[in-house]
Amino acid sequence: MISLHFLGTASGIPTFYRFNSATLLCCDQDKYLIDCGEPVSSLLLRTGFDWKEIKAVFISHMHADHFSGIFQLLQSLQIAGRTEKLSIMMPENAINTFKSFLELILLHGDMLPYQLEIIPVQSGYIFKDDNFQVTACPTNHLKPYNRPAYSYSFEGDIKIVYSGDIGSINDLRWLQEADVLIMELAHVPLDDVLQFLKIKSKIGKIVLSHIHPDLEGKEKEVFNMLLDFLPKERITIAGDGTMLKIVPEKCYNNEYGL
Ligand SMILES: [Zn+2]
Repeated sequence: MISLHFLGTASGIPTFYRFNSATLLCCDQDKYLIDCGEPVSSLLLRTGFDWKEIKAVFISHMHADHFSGIFQLLQSLQIAGRTEKLSIMMPENAINTFKSFLELILLHGDMLPYQLEIIPVQSGYIFKDDNFQVTACPTNHLKPYNRPAYSYSFEGDIKIVYSGDIGSINDLRWLQEADVLIMELAHVPLDDVLQFLKIKSKIGKIVLSHIHPDLEGKEKEVFNMLLDFLPKERITIAGDGTMLKIVPEKCYNNEYGL
């Protein structure tokens, strides 16, 4: 079974109801963490997952709300005695600094009981296993700072696209079809998302996450606006604890966790 678990759905700042970005993609026993905002170790525990089950972590870009939980997660795995390899995908320019910081906090080399594989992300294919082939598509989110940011596309029995943070809706022009689009709603006006959905008819389900604080409490209004473009069973406004079961026949069910 394939499922998505929205652990943290806030944008740049956590709120009372939303922690920072972390989404868990489960494919039977294999688990993939898409972004790793804090407090992801705690949220995984509360949602009933074993840290050791995580196979790979995909970091979209180096803003703290997207990766700040990685350090505690690596320490959690160290203390829990993980022995299986863990892969982390992150923008190539960040890797040397990231490794230096791991040395500073004693999470490097032989300090870890598991192999830590850090894979540089560039545009294009970045990862493949029996479940998914993953490609990265650059976005303009950090272009003013000349830094990279990526959307990720997971393709297997189903195709799940994670927008990451985008500069504008044009960053998703390449997207033709997807069973599920996880769309950020912090750096793009809702109107642009609605126009995008009008054009992109081959998106099975849209899940809005990374919600701007100004929209918190207005989820019902946002949902109603999306109803002009999609039937209700194809819309989810994610909150912390939202769980989405996905079946290849493109029937979707929502279940809520926490
Ligand atoms: Zn960002």
